[in-house]
Amino acid sequence: MSTLRFHAIKESLSHKPLFFEDKERRSELFGKNVFNETAMRQYLTKDALKGVMNAIKHGKKIDRNIADQVASSMRDWALSKGVTHYTHWFQPLTGTTAEKHDAFFEILEDGMAIEKFGGTQLVQQEPDASSFPNGGIRNTFEARGYTAWDPTSPAFIYGTTLCIPTIFVAYTGEALDYKTPLLRALFAIDSAATEVCKYFDKNVKKVSSSLGWEQEYFLVDKLLISSRPDIQLTGRTLLGHSAAKGQQLDDHYFGSIPTRAFNFMKELEYECMLLGIPVKTRHNEVAPNQFELAPIYEEVNLAVDHNSLVMDIMGRVASKHDFKVLLHEKPFAGINGSGKHNNWSLSTDTGVNLLSPGKTPMSNLQFLTFFINTIKAVYEYEDLLRASIASASNDHRLGANEAPPAIMSVFIGEQLTKVLEELEGVTKGKLSPEEKTELKLNVVGKIPDVLLDNTDRNRTSPFAFTGNKFEFRAVGSLANCGNPMTVLNTIVAKQLKEFKVEVDKLIDKKDLKKDEAVFNVLREYIKSIKPILFEGNGYGQAWEEEAVKRGLSNNKTTPEALKAKISAKAIELFEEMNVMSKIESHARYEIEMEAYIMHIQIESRVLGDIARNHIVPTAVKYQNILIENVKGLKEIFEDKYKTVAKEQMGLIEEISAHIEAINSNVTKMTDARRKANTMDDIAQKATSYCFDVKSIFKDIRYHCDKLELLVDDEIWPLAKYRELLFTR
Ligand code: ADP
Ligand code: MG
Repeated sequence: MSTLRFHAIKESLSHKPLFFEDKERRSELFGKNVFNETAMRQYLTKDALKGVMNAIKHGKKIDRNIADQVASSMRDWALSKGVTHYTHWFQPLTGTTAEKHDAFFEILEDGMAIEKFGGTQLVQQEPDASSFPNGGIRNTFEARGYTAWDPTSPAFIYGTTLCIPTIFVAYTGEALDYKTPLLRALFAIDSAATEVCKYFDKNVKKVSSSLGWEQEYFLVDKLLISSRPDIQLTGRTLLGHSAAKGQQLDDHYFGSIPTRAFNFMKELEYECMLLGIPVKTRHNEVAPNQFELAPIYEEVNLAVDHNSLVMDIMGRVASKHDFKVLLHEKPFAGINGSGKHNNWSLSTDTGVNLLSPGKTPMSNLQFLTFFINTIKAVYEYEDLLRASIASASNDHRLGANEAPPAIMSVFIGEQLTKVLEELEGVTKGKLSPEEKTELKLNVVGKIPDVLLDNTDRNRTSPFAFTGNKFEFRAVGSLANCGNPMTVLNTIVAKQLKEFKVEVDKLIDKKDLKKDEAVFNVLREYIKSIKPILFEGNGYGQAWEEEAVKRGLSNNKTTPEALKAKISAKAIELFEEMNVMSKIESHARYEIEMEAYIMHIQIESRVLGDIARNHIVPTAVKYQNILIENVKGLKEIFEDKYKTVAKEQMGLIEEISAHIEAINSNVTKMTDARRKANTMDDIAQKATSYCFDVKSIFKDIRYHCDKLELLVDDEIWPLAKYRELLFTR
């Protein structure tokens, strides 16, 4: 009997729900462990509070003296909550979060001990960061990178550690994390959007970008995973025959949440509340044991931090409940994978959502301006947007007939399509008073009404307008949202900047009124953006063919998609918008290509190992049982044995054929890997891993999965799909 698997199954059955009581009200829990405005008001001097608020709201620098004051107040606040250590908390390009804890504790010259934490420690740290990916920016032997305080994301306490959100940069100034370019992109969109807002409202001084992410994930019993080296090492199943029951019955989606999972969620949400993460929605997803968590949207930088934090907390809370969280985009073949929709909008400091139709014709013209410019930005940089969500794991979703396709397109719904059609007919140059009235009353003025009944939703679109926000649906569940958010905000900023130039030109040179100029530029945009607008079925073959005609890219794999990151157009964009230097763009490209290669390499090694060292020996063992059986039958039946033992002998042959196929394919894969490893050019190497190495996975898997159906269940070593997906 396969001891590990059966032991795991037996033990997992004894896993009972760990009841979690949430006694306190959410409103009271919310932000209890965050050094937020409430805590700051209590602990900071007036001057210090003003300094920090200015930094948060207006991006002003915090001077040394203030930093010292903030640090000591932060320390007092943290000590009052039983904290012993502090850490700079950052998001290196590994995709996870990083922290290095230091104790507050320090010894003075006379041997006395105190809890010390000053401005220096708050503002800057030098983690020995030589092992983080840097894409060749920093020589490893120098290991000189530093983390610097980001006051726009508040410090928080996790466990007994004070965590200070920071950026992570090389001494030479290049960004080594997700946050730094994101902050620059947010600055760029603020500047560009504020300028455009001034056409409509002179009082606007700041535009912020908002993000509401929807995190999908799987929960699997922790013990069952102990028999699955593939899940342990790669986060997904590399083999495994589908269960008799999958998601055919649609009985999991929005169904009642299983008790064990429910208690996990309650505790997770409790932790989120303490950390000021406004989680709100929880429900079952389509696949068995798949769930979703979504917060109320927040300013992008904070939302990105919160999502990274949530992914981390999920793992820790899950472990307490004897679960493992799978954030991989495709943990199981044959059933739905996980994504992370990024809901995005822009809003002004005067409280207006720029992607929400307003009540007056003027505010609707403003809405249309931002709406159309966003679509234009996506059109101009569709390949870059695709690249921003490229990863080895997300390749399983995009273009795989369940998530949005790898082709970027925008869905806006029937009503707004009509509005755009009408605007396309606007007269060139000056507008007659009648036309203006008509536009204001019947075209622009009508938007709020039409949107109310605009309930059609196209779930196959990667970038859909959903009433008052755009929903970028192609983001992977495992992704750091910083990457797509940096790109989206940068391209829209660039587009708005261009729009401003064009409108100003019409006002100055052609003597048009402001609204006439806006109508004129938008009309031309509407004509140009048509290829990116698509309302049909994004999963169909027909769309792939249509997209080619429209000139849209369709990069199905990461090595193909990432190339857009270092196109002349992309490098120019990031430089112009002060988001990334050429060196930084190249470094990121290298890091992501390298990460792709590593992921496929690890998967390939694990698959080879499981196939040869777990599956083949098991098959041989079973074959031996059959051989013994045939021998016994021969002894009893003598000549007649060929009829009696026919099935068994057939099985013996069938098993041999599968074993042979597995072995030869593993050898073929290993050779392909060896060859790829000799390549110096990173793009060539990644491509080889993608098309020469990874392409063999499915053949190996096919034969292993066939064996799973043949071999006696009693000796099968790996937890099966039905066990992984239906034990809860
Ligand atoms: P869905 O039907 O896709 O689940 P929801 O209305 O439940 O959509 O919202 C999903 C996410 O969108 C939530 O995180 C929510 O906070 C966020 N969201 C709602 N409005 C906005 C907005 N204006 N900007 C950004 N995110 C938003
Ligand atoms: Mg959604």
